[in-house]
Amino acid sequence: METQEMMMEFDSSSSNESFARVAVAAFAARLDPTVEEITDIKTAVSEAVTNCIIHGYESTEGKIRVECKIHNRELLITVMDRGCGIADVKKAMEPLYTSKPELERSGMGFAFMEAFMDELKVSSMPMAGTIVQMRKKIAKKPEAV
Ligand code: ATP
Ligand code: MG
Repeated sequence: METQEMMMEFDSSSSNESFARVAVAAFAARLDPTVEEITDIKTAVSEAVTNCIIHGYESTEGKIRVECKIHNRELLITVMDRGCGIADVKKAMEPLYTSKPELERSGMGFAFMEAFMDELKVSSMPMAGTIVQMRKKIAKKPEAV
């Protein structure tokens, strides 16, 4: 099966969070995912994009880039910002860790991405930005009878 790709870049405004998750879900639809798989993908994209807006750019203006690739029934999603970056990625990925408890964040974003996708990779450099890569395998459904 050939590789199919999509990329988009949009402003870090909260109204683009729903845009991003719907766009990725629409792209993934060609794999004929279940409702549950689509919900997982939407949640993961939503968490990653919200992190770019709230943490990466600290609610200032910036661009968020999302790239999607489908290969061998596997969906690879990359969410990137050129914001403040993360000093300690390992610590940031711990469930319940948040640098913004005053905003009543629960520190569960990365934990959700990890739970709902098959693989999560985070790379970041302070002052340069953050790259979140997520992978999900979409199983082929049995032929309807
Ligand atoms: P929640 O997602 O539950 O609302 P949260 O965003 O704080 O809370 P996570 O999404 O797990 O929790 O992120 C953990 C921490 O990692 C954040 O508090 C923040 O310090 C850091 N972080 C996550 N994404 C980014 C990013 N794109 N740029 C800079 N820092 C980030
Ligand atoms: Mg978060």
